[in-house]
Amino acid sequence: MPEYVVDCAFCRIIKEFEPGRFRYQDEDVVAFDDINPKARIHILIVPKEHVHSVADLPENGGEIAGKLIMAAKNLADELNIGRSGFRLVFNSGKDSGAEVDHIHLHLLGGEKLGPMG
Ligand code: 5GP
Ligand code: ZN
Repeated sequence: MPEYVVDCAFCRIIKEFEPGRFRYQDEDVVAFDDINPKARIHILIVPKEHVHSVADLPENGGEIAGKLIMAAKNLADELNIGRSGFRLVFNSGKDSGAEVDHIHLHLLGGEKLGPMG
């Protein structure tokens, strides 16, 4: 089990493991629906290892970042939005409005998305 941060909402979700919650999981990554979806499809792809944000990725962080992106791509294909289009977003730090201090990749799609703001 990777490092668990007691007051982290996403560490809790990973640790408590509710059957049926995860749209995807492997030894490093889980994916689940955002509690407050901003699009018809809004999935969060999250590493099991607690890293605060993109700004806190270590030198070898490309490996985990790549896994998040590949999980998002595969989910998009499974949900038949791989070709119609989707958006991937990492928020990092307070200017981005980031709320949860455990790195996660947003997968948004299933409809025509508005411009980025
Ligand atoms: P951020 O703004 O940090 O990039 O995104 C955090 C996202 O996590 C938000 O879209 C928010 O709706 C979602 N979120 C926050 N707490 C929970 C939770 O307990 N469960 C789930 N499924 N999503 C959450
Ligand atoms: Zn965490």
